[in-house]
Amino acid sequence: MSNFLTLDDVDRGHLEGLLDQATEFLEVLDRPIPKVPALRGKTVAMLFFEPSTRTKMSFDRAAKALSADTMAFSPSGSSLSKGESLKDTTLTILAMGPHAFVVRHKATGAPWQIAEWSGIPTVNAGDGAHQHPTQGLLDALTLRQRFGSLDGLRIALVGDLRHSRVARSDIAAFTTLGAQVTLVAPRTLQPTDVDGWPVATAGELDPLLPDLDAVYLLRIQEERGGGEDFPSVSEYVARFGLTAARAARLPDHAVVLHPGPMNRGVEIAPSVADGPRSLVTTQVRNGVAVRMAVLFELLGGSDA
Ligand code: ASP
Repeated sequence: MSNFLTLDDVDRGHLEGLLDQATEFLEVLDRPIPKVPALRGKTVAMLFFEPSTRTKMSFDRAAKALSADTMAFSPSGSSLSKGESLKDTTLTILAMGPHAFVVRHKATGAPWQIAEWSGIPTVNAGDGAHQHPTQGLLDALTLRQRFGSLDGLRIALVGDLRHSRVARSDIAAFTTLGAQVTLVAPRTLQPTDVDGWPVATAGELDPLLPDLDAVYLLRIQEERGGGEDFPSVSEYVARFGLTAARAARLPDHAVVLHPGPMNRGVEIAPSVADGPRSLVTTQVRNGVAVRMAVLFELLGGSDA
């Protein structure tokens, strides 16, 4: 693997291998000194052109746990405001000698461009509404840990699926690993390109609740126009919000996931977000381990 840009072309064996590697790295993260020398001497440059709390810090933590150095670019205060192009920005940072790029951008395909211009291993940390492959990995790891396998798991992805890169990567990961995925949203928030995907769609959440193993909630992507695709937040909550009453109708073993940032009181009630079914903080912890696995694979860690 020379880049990690999408989960669409990652087969089951490769996916399981990355999850196995991440599971080993979870053990490293539990050690008193949570660090291994695998990527000593390597430098990872992080280009986040869109806001991020979890993903950016998680890649930073992952790189450092492998003893790599990191360089962070932040668009505000950079020469982007002086009109520097994405290509010139990339080539400028490349000249400082990083061994890999981690890229988040609002434009679909930007990480592919950066991979091509730079010729060094590039990881997609979220491109527009397209892909967020390490999120798909960490979500799959979180479900595999809980259930042993995703084979036959019944998972509902609920919310702004149309504008969600998380949904696209999760669908690829979950279905490749054998889960049955239902996309639950008002028609205006369903993806327009869903035909041919190995998923079911539903316009109501309530009838599905008693048969689900996992509910995955997605934020309305206001920054991508998601807020204009339904009449009002209160109507949305009334039909699709995971309230305490709805969560109580799930089977006892069912779990709740969310990629963050959560809009409490909209797609998820605070009591559900903080309740016993919630795997939100487990997802965050697993995120560090899967990003370690991806960086390790890309940067030749196996030779170290
Ligand atoms: N943090 C996730 C992403 O970057 C989910 C979200 O923003 O709603 O796509």
